[in-house]
Amino acid sequence: MTPTQPIIVWFRDDLRLSDHPALHEAASRGVPVTCLYVLDEESRALKPPAARPLGGAARWWLAQSLRALGNDLATIGGSLVLRKGPAASAIAALAREANANAVFWNDIAQAPHQAVAGDVEAALASNGISSQILPGDLLVEPKAIRNKENRGLRVFTPFWRRVQGLGDPPKPLPAPKKLISVPGIASEAVSDWALEPTRPDWAGGLRESWRPGEAAAQAQLKAFLDDGISGYSGDRDRPDRDGTSRLSPHLRFGEISPRQVWHAARFAAAEHPRLVGNVDKFLSELGWREFCRHLLFDVPDLADRNLQAHFDGFPWKRDAKALKAWQRGRTGYPIVDAGMRQLWHTGVMHNRVRMVVASFLVKHLLIDWRAGEQWFWDTLVDADAGSNPANWQWVAGSGADAAPYFRVFNPILQGEKFDPDGGYVRRWVPELTRLPDNLIHQPWTATPIELASAGIELGKTYPQPIVDHKQGRERALAAYAKIRGKD
Ligand code: FAD
Repeated sequence: MTPTQPIIVWFRDDLRLSDHPALHEAASRGVPVTCLYVLDEESRALKPPAARPLGGAARWWLAQSLRALGNDLATIGGSLVLRKGPAASAIAALAREANANAVFWNDIAQAPHQAVAGDVEAALASNGISSQILPGDLLVEPKAIRNKENRGLRVFTPFWRRVQGLGDPPKPLPAPKKLISVPGIASEAVSDWALEPTRPDWAGGLRESWRPGEAAAQAQLKAFLDDGISGYSGDRDRPDRDGTSRLSPHLRFGEISPRQVWHAARFAAAEHPRLVGNVDKFLSELGWREFCRHLLFDVPDLADRNLQAHFDGFPWKRDAKALKAWQRGRTGYPIVDAGMRQLWHTGVMHNRVRMVVASFLVKHLLIDWRAGEQWFWDTLVDADAGSNPANWQWVAGSGADAAPYFRVFNPILQGEKFDPDGGYVRRWVPELTRLPDNLIHQPWTATPIELASAGIELGKTYPQPIVDHKQGRERALAAYAKIRGKD
């Protein structure tokens, strides 16, 4: 490499400047750096069944995040070049254009992304351009945590113990203070890529709810550690409170790295020892993200295949009407409907409610978990190739370290326990606002007078339950009995 030849840094799910190993390494060489994002919808490995195209809500997020990254790079003298196409040819072409002789990127420990990266490496090598791949977006690389058969662990607790046993992950790297950019490189525009909805523009709720980008991610982490963390263990299950970090989409797009979160949380606990218990709990949730990603590394078809094979014979029902009622938040169960409407409006749903709605779909409605996973994939701004299918399989009972199938969440009791004053339901299902607290999770038990005085006409202004809880539960258990013991 001649000393002044530029280096290209290829950004993927790591849309940040700080703790970005590839950018840090390139910037430290003191040569010009071209930062690149490729919208790759063409590489073979990125097409189904190997990987899924981004869902609608995630595409919206990506557009905002790329703009934020471009602005952030401009503040240190850099710029973001956007190109569309198969990554291998787009990157090789840019390298020739910029006269670069090295491309650096961070690993993504997912089979399709590694396959694409392999093609990029080969295309570059055939042009005499070198590649450097740095550790990716995990606390620990999947290859570092294996059992005796050289497989990833399938049970969370021993997995997390092993991760913790490795000690603190490396300290986050600082953002480069200055970049020397390569002049005259053309870029496409985010708006050319039709990532955002136009007709209709359904993203109003997302715009209201979120500020994508690294600065917002860091501000969110700081606010949470200054304030929210002190009640985390108690509040994290309460959808009616702001008790969690709301970092998931920022982590999904790599606007913040898990080791930045880890170290900031540990620092908060060291400063305020009373926070230790809450910080441990919070980091163990980050551990679930890690666990899901490690699982995905071992099981690339996690979104398609039951991890427990006896679920292959499960008698799922095809019921388009019920699926639609669930998607639209019109099941007649207020906590389920509140969750589904929160999801549609904001692109996220509280974790407790994700479990309740998933259980309801898979058990009360007997609809295949893959249909629910696909809906989440399209509507979540944090839709994650590991966490989404892993959690769906966990709820369905078909997954690794899964909840047993016979644990059927009761949507009435879940509502009463975790949304005791009905604040969450009232926020997302406004037609029930005037029901008293003791009826808010089961409006069908209200008397005609109670309904009338709350302005509700069941079946008209709000649906009757689409399935009776007790019957749904029994039907689910009977369906499960058909496959039990068939492995
Ligand atoms: P916090 O409670 O503040 O947790 C901190 C971080 O830990 C989160 O940002 C997230 O990265 C991670 N985390 C927390 N819980 C889990 C978990 N159960 N599994 C994996 N990681 C976790 N999370 C996603 O990021 N993407 C998904 O596509 C996704 N799909 C889900 C589907 C179902 C059916 C269920 C039950 C859960 C799913 N989750 C998913 C996990 C969880 O609901 C979200 O991570 C959480 O609600 C995000 O809110 P938070 O950032 O405020 O979480």
